[in-house]
Amino acid sequence: LINPVERPQVTQELSENLILTTVDDLYNWARLSSLWPMMYGTACCFIEFAALIGSRFDFDRFGLVPRNSPRQADLLITAGTITMKMAPAVVRLYEQMPAPKYVIAMGACTITGGMFSVDSPTAVRGVDKLIPVDVYIPGCPPRPEAIIDAIVKLRKKVSNQSLSERGNHQQTHRYHTISHQ
Ligand code: SF4
Repeated sequence: LINPVERPQVTQELSENLILTTVDDLYNWARLSSLWPMMYGTACCFIEFAALIGSRFDFDRFGLVPRNSPRQADLLITAGTITMKMAPAVVRLYEQMPAPKYVIAMGACTITGGMFSVDSPTAVRGVDKLIPVDVYIPGCPPRPEAIIDAIVKLRKKVSNQSLSERGNHQQTHRYHTISHQ
């Protein structure tokens, strides 16, 4: 046991210039400050995502840099309706992204099938039947401010992750299972 009386004192100069942290915190700080979303959209929700990228919303302040290749992206924002025909492509794009990776489901169509959920034979009733989703944004369509809110929530989630658990829950579901819905 350390006697508190004998504990070495940290000088004021040292305490002002020393930052103590963990590897997890340092790594997470770097990751949440450089989430790179893939340019991906299948319907009208993408128009709002495209508006977010414009200068008005200052999207870059979060370190987000849109990428055109899944191999350079670690964030997939599913903006728009997902059809059965598109499902294998969504899964493939997700699998091509390097881990750790994240998904934001944007809009009623991608979350539940939206207005196509009643009698459409081709709409997927939820992208989370295909790939794991981290944050959901309800709405038709959600405004750019709602996407920013989802990104803030995702950053909070990333900041609480541990190196030891990261990537354990990121397996995709086989897309053919949705044919039973
Ligand atoms: Fe279009 Fe609304 Fe569906 Fe988004 S949720 S893709 S805006 S119909």
